[in-house]
Amino acid sequence: MDIKSAAFVISNSDVAKCPQRPLPEYAFIGRSNVGKSSLINMLTNRKHLAKTSGRPGKTQLINHFIINDNWFLVDLPGYGYARVSKASKKKFQKFITNYFEQRQQLVMAFVLIDIRHKPQPIDLEFMTYLGLKEIPFGIIFTKADKLKPKAIERNVEAYCQELLKTWEALPPYFITSSTKRVGQEEVLDFIEATNQEIEQLRKQES
Ligand code: GDP
Repeated sequence: MDIKSAAFVISNSDVAKCPQRPLPEYAFIGRSNVGKSSLINMLTNRKHLAKTSGRPGKTQLINHFIINDNWFLVDLPGYGYARVSKASKKKFQKFITNYFEQRQQLVMAFVLIDIRHKPQPIDLEFMTYLGLKEIPFGIIFTKADKLKPKAIERNVEAYCQELLKTWEALPPYFITSSTKRVGQEEVLDFIEATNQEIEQLRKQES
């Protein structure tokens, strides 16, 4: 997929106020500092579409971007940042769960995982939550430039083994580096293929 246009639409903390156009939507979520803003900028060929975080935990909103005027990219707040208070964590959880449980257009969530780390309970629990709610998800491993190819292979394999303890099949996954611009085509082509499938299903139904 070529990015012809990418523009910010709206930020809010209320799923009811999210854009109403019935376009397929892909949500990006992960721990604070995982490299989500950098990834969104890399995917869309924009330097500042998503704000890279000087202050993690600050961007506590559902941010909609429209891509090529035919799908929404959603930048969700980072989770698991230790310095956020318990009360604001609760509030955060509520509007995020509202988003996941009510957003009709949501096609898929991409869970971002720093490729350097061992599987973390918070990420695994989040994927379990998505599974329980029957929300399809994929994994995007970030910061691949920080490891050598052998270590990438080892860590991805370890992650897959961990997932297979809970899941019958592996989700689609992608290895990316925003600094080295790795994985852009794979992620965008996956989204494009999924959008085409949805379009075909719609045509068959009408
Ligand atoms: P966010 O909090 O998840 O949105 O993360 P950011 O995109 O703000 O990135 C957090 C930190 O990781 C920043 O210092 C980025 O420069 C760095 N970072 C993000 N992506 C990459 C990457 O692909 N490679 C490397 N080496 N650093 C990255």
